Amino acid sequence: MCGIIGAIHLKGNISSILRQSLKRLEYRGYDSSGIATVSDGVLYVKKDKGKIDDIHDRINFDTLPGSIGIGHTRWATHGPPSKANAHPHTDCQNRIAVVHNGIIENYQELREQLLSNGHHFRSQTDTEVIPHLIEDALNQTPRLDEAVAQVLPQLEGSYAIVVLRAKRKELVCARKESPLVIGLGSRGVYCASDVPAFLPMTRKTIILEDDELVHLTSEGALVSRINESGGLTQLPIREPITVKWTIDMAQKGGYPHFMLKEIHEQPRALGDTLRIRKVDLDAFTELLHNHKNILTIAAGTSYHATLAAKYMFSQIANQLIHGVIASEGSDTIARSLGADTAVLAVTQSGETIDTIHAVKHLKNQGATILAITNTVGSSITRLADSVLYTQAGPEIGVAATKTYATQLATLALLSISLGKMTGAQTKKECQELHDALNQFPRLIQSVIRNQENIIKDTAQEYITKSSFFFLGRGISTSTAMEGALKIKEIAYVHAEGYPAGESKHGPIALVEPGFPIVFVAPNDNTRRHLEGNVMEMKARGAQIISICSEKDQTLIKLSDHAIPLPALPSTSFSPISYAVPLQLLAYYAAILRGHNPDQPRNLAKAVTVL
Ligand code: GLU
Repeated sequence: MCGIIGAIHLKGNISSILRQSLKRLEYRGYDSSGIATVSDGVLYVKKDKGKIDDIHDRINFDTLPGSIGIGHTRWATHGPPSKANAHPHTDCQNRIAVVHNGIIENYQELREQLLSNGHHFRSQTDTEVIPHLIEDALNQTPRLDEAVAQVLPQLEGSYAIVVLRAKRKELVCARKESPLVIGLGSRGVYCASDVPAFLPMTRKTIILEDDELVHLTSEGALVSRINESGGLTQLPIREPITVKWTIDMAQKGGYPHFMLKEIHEQPRALGDTLRIRKVDLDAFTELLHNHKNILTIAAGTSYHATLAAKYMFSQIANQLIHGVIASEGSDTIARSLGADTAVLAVTQSGETIDTIHAVKHLKNQGATILAITNTVGSSITRLADSVLYTQAGPEIGVAATKTYATQLATLALLSISLGKMTGAQTKKECQELHDALNQFPRLIQSVIRNQENIIKDTAQEYITKSSFFFLGRGISTSTAMEGALKIKEIAYVHAEGYPAGESKHGPIALVEPGFPIVFVAPNDNTRRHLEGNVMEMKARGAQIISICSEKDQTLIKLSDHAIPLPALPSTSFSPISYAVPLQLLAYYAAILRGHNPDQPRNLAKAVTVL
């Protein structure tokens, strides 16, 4: 995920407008930035690694000349953050500049073809194929919109792009599965990933659909549809809508908090993550498979994802993995492990110091390091022998939500891939598991749509409670622990996440009439025994909140409050959808208690102290 902007003003210098627009898009990505402008038929580009203000202090974006330009604030997916990998990317002759949000899945094939046709590449990004392909297409047609339309059907994956060329005062932008909006103002026209980019200049907006291309000139915006063969059909003039949001509201997509926005973004984040390239997944799995021991290292929510993975790996790949909390994993455990160990380190930021510290110890012992992270170019990626990237995009809310879902999805893909390699699953069974996994984005969508209000009411119902248990069995223990962590960290409510079967060996002593207990109860092979745990707690007067299948009438009737969820396509991956109501419960518990869930006290997004 990153932020893109394009702008044409009738007159005056555009560069500072572009820079300030990028600043308002910085919440979408912030590892590098760049701006390209055109003046007197010459293309100018300034870009670098780092945050926009720091880059501006060094190279002063505002001196770029011209009243037309494009800009980008990056969240790297292909190639680490660096000056060369920062956007805009240009063609061989420096006549075309492109900014891109998304992932071009077939970029390697395209890059090889272009290299063999004599093109020169300057970056490691997937994006750079686009200006070179447009360069070639402009040999067939002089029109930029036609050239871009010819290129787009060759791109597999997702994109929102803006293309600038030196020759004329025009921009072409297009989208497929990445956001793009048009702004129509009195001083000029704009296109951007999101409305806040141009909100101070105009509130008049046209929202684009997939496979639409827009030709922008000083006169306005012409919207066309791209057909599969690369032709263009001009669409009727679309009336702009008037956006009423403030900049702060717009950055949050109209949601009151980033956390809620990020919970709602999970279907998209999950869908993108499930598209990890098979070759990358296979190479990563091969490394895991070649080792006798597999150890997971993670902290906080990432640790809960690895706990879920323990069940997925046993069930799907017949592979036992040892889950270690990062801060516990360095000295003592590292000593007993060596070259026959693969370490699977899971960290959202890639900078979690506990994880980095443990990984360094294990690497020194000769272990192979495999990392799952959301951040390209982060410290963990430099230590790892192989990396898989989750595609959550930047997460601003301190409490992890969409990054958790994408970690679970990556670990699920890995368990299937390992299951295939170990022979635990047939090809057909793997396909069925993939099909099941691919249904989760839709499933989460329906959980959010149908349950959010019920969950809000439930949070209100328990507003006076100062302590909760979250209980589950098997893989749901990890979900219960994650639910407890969420409500602790943002609502400041004491909660204990525990295996339901183990609860009678101690925690049950705390249960008295009215004590709230959340049971995570998918319809899997633990469900029958869980009912016994529910009865034990009910017998002591506990109030039961169940997160269960909508078909589970027995549990719904036994519960004081039930949050019924749609049937699971595979119970092996239940945490992906069952964590969502718990995230919403924590969110509303925080709001109703008057806390800001985006910035919980005493916590930081990336924990970089031991
Ligand atoms: N894939 C592009 C890059 O890595 C764009 C990044 C994005 O949109 O997340 O530079």
